[in-house]
Amino acid sequence: MRYDLHTHSLHSDGTLAPTELVRRACANGVEVLALTDHDVTDGLAEAAVAAHGFGLTFIPGVEISVTWMNQTLHIVGLNIDPAHPELQAGLAGLREFRHWRAQEIDRRLAKKRIVGALDGAARHAKGAILSRTHFARFLVEQRHARDMAQAFKLFLARGKPAHVPGRWAPLGDAVRWIRGAGGVAVIAHPARYKLTAGKLRKLLGEFRDCGGQAIEVVAGRHDAETARHFAAVAQEHGLLASAGSDYHGPENGWGDLGRVAPLPDGCTPVWEAWTARQPAPVARAC
Ligand code: AMP
Ligand code: MN
Ligand code: MN
Ligand code: MN
Repeated sequence: MRYDLHTHSLHSDGTLAPTELVRRACANGVEVLALTDHDVTDGLAEAAVAAHGFGLTFIPGVEISVTWMNQTLHIVGLNIDPAHPELQAGLAGLREFRHWRAQEIDRRLAKKRIVGALDGAARHAKGAILSRTHFARFLVEQRHARDMAQAFKLFLARGKPAHVPGRWAPLGDAVRWIRGAGGVAVIAHPARYKLTAGKLRKLLGEFRDCGGQAIEVVAGRHDAETARHFAAVAQEHGLLASAGSDYHGPENGWGDLGRVAPLPDGCTPVWEAWTARQPAPVARAC
């Protein structure tokens, strides 16, 4: 089976509608797809209907923003029940912080004589959340930056003038919301945090203690060596291994939908935690 367990739609900072995302996943040979928008589950119902139509197995997911030791981490929840009240209450709180943060980013950009950023970013947002990605698209559109990477580098990345420190969910809360909703909690793109070996061990210990079960071994921008490294980390810590592209849309450079390398040998795939409950695959129609 071909899995892609980390993707975004226009309900967060991706650019495709859920149906278009599923259509493209089908065309790219994906058989099991998860939609994991940032801090919102609004795209899941449409994606589930589309996946049924195209003959893909659909895994409802979410990518939760977490603050851990003054650092932002992303925890993916897979195979969740989006109707779970505690999960929804938690996500609503994160979206409230996003709303306040967007106004703060706008104020900070105004100090740099960039006006209208909040409205400009909002024009790029098609769903319930405002992301730094939307501000980056505005900055590129207004020629304050050459491309998305430069928009982050000049304005939005940590330590840059329009960066607002995150006040996201505590790690234990995010894992509890996911577990409460019947899902599996996965540490997303672990290489991106640039943790020392000691801090990674501390994170994985806390994550497991609060009910976390998996880590992305194959992630959008992990090369083969990084995947092997995190495969060994997963084995050492008794974690399941996940694989996802972190696809954000055709115009975004990183991670093409469904271009997900196989898990290295020795990994226990995250889907073993739920495959017993999945219905049999239906005929593909794309
Ligand atoms: P937020 O959750 O609103 O703080 O935005 C984080 C999102 O910004 C990530 O999910 C990525 O999609 C995007 N992002 C972060 N860093 C970069 C970068 N250097 N270039 C392009 N996109 C980025
Ligand atoms: Mn994103
Ligand atoms: Mn992420
Ligand atoms: Mn993501």
